[in-house]
Order: sequence, then C-alpha cells, then structure tokens
Amino acid sequence: MNLEELQRIVNEAVSYTKDVHGIEAEHVEVKLTLSEPSIRSRASSDVKTAYLGLDLEKGEFRIDPNDMLVSSKRTTLHKVLKRLVNCEICDEAVCTTDNYCSSCGNKLN
Ligand SMILES: [Zn+2]
Repeated sequence: MNLEELQRIVNEAVSYTKDVHGIEAEHVEVKLTLSEPSIRSRASSDVKTAYLGLDLEKGEFRIDPNDMLVSSKRTTLHKVLKRLVNCEICDEAVCTTDNYCSSCGNKLN
C-alpha cells in the first residue's frame, strides 16, 4: 500500500463515519489488527504516532503501534541466530550443524 491509497481509504472512512456509524471522525479510534487469538473483536494495538520516514526509512510512511509487535519471521530469525556459534580459529559466525568453517576451513564437527 502506498500513502495515496491510504489517504483515499481514510478520506472515504471519514466521509462515511458520521452517516454509517453516527460517530464524528474525531471519536473514531485507529487500531492495528494483530494476528493473535481474541474472544470478542479482533486483537488490536492502539497507534502511538504516524509520520514520514527519514534517512533509511525515506519513502516510507511509518505507523508506530503502542504495543510491541513481533512478526513470526523474527521468531524464525531468532531460532537461526541461536544455532550460530563462533569459529575457534577465525571467530566468524558458523552454524552448529556445519562441518567446516566457511571462512577459514577449520573442521568444526
Ligand atoms: Zn574459521
């Protein structure tokens, strides 16, 4: 999604909220839907702030949640990082399942 698409969706929601929900736009809360189980409405986080990104995030529109959100990909990366050790010879990171260090050729297993 780009910022223009988001603007169009927000503009439409603002124009309909009073007629459809009977609520002024200033009283409509903005939520981020979470991918986790919930009994009633979908699990969500409040939005802390939203802004145009700077430096490495230039060209991005960032929405910061109130709660810490962690993707399942990060969990997978965490598992991969837990399997890394340092080569005793050259100190490069190697996987515990590797037979040889890819940097110096040291026999690991
Ligand atoms: Zn090595």
